[in-house]
Amino acid sequence: MAAIPQQARSKQLRACLLCSIVQHSADFRKNGCPNCEELMQMKGTTDRYTHCTTTYFDGVISVVDPETSWVARWQRTSKYVRGMYAVRVKGRIPEDVEAELESRGIKYRPRDQTDQD
Ligand SMILES: [Zn+2]
Repeated sequence: MAAIPQQARSKQLRACLLCSIVQHSADFRKNGCPNCEELMQMKGTTDRYTHCTTTYFDGVISVVDPETSWVARWQRTSKYVRGMYAVRVKGRIPEDVEAELESRGIKYRPRDQTDQD
């Protein structure tokens, strides 16, 4: 028996709170984030990916040259894959994930309107 989705507005699309890539939720669950999986370890989890991604985003753009785009600017260490990225993402990663990132020397910056690139 299938559960009825609470909202259909997102068409099951979610944005990664760390790099803002947009994918289907099933892809996050199955494969994790193509950019941040090493850090976020969402792959195969039932709830971690829901904390590290969000359905609250807008301004989706297609990035075909991630190396030189704004997407790559704010996090120097990552190589970003081509794909769809949200311009604005609401919400933050969980504090424990943020602490993990900091322990690896990565400063998390929320991808919302207050972000100063
Ligand atoms: Zn990501």
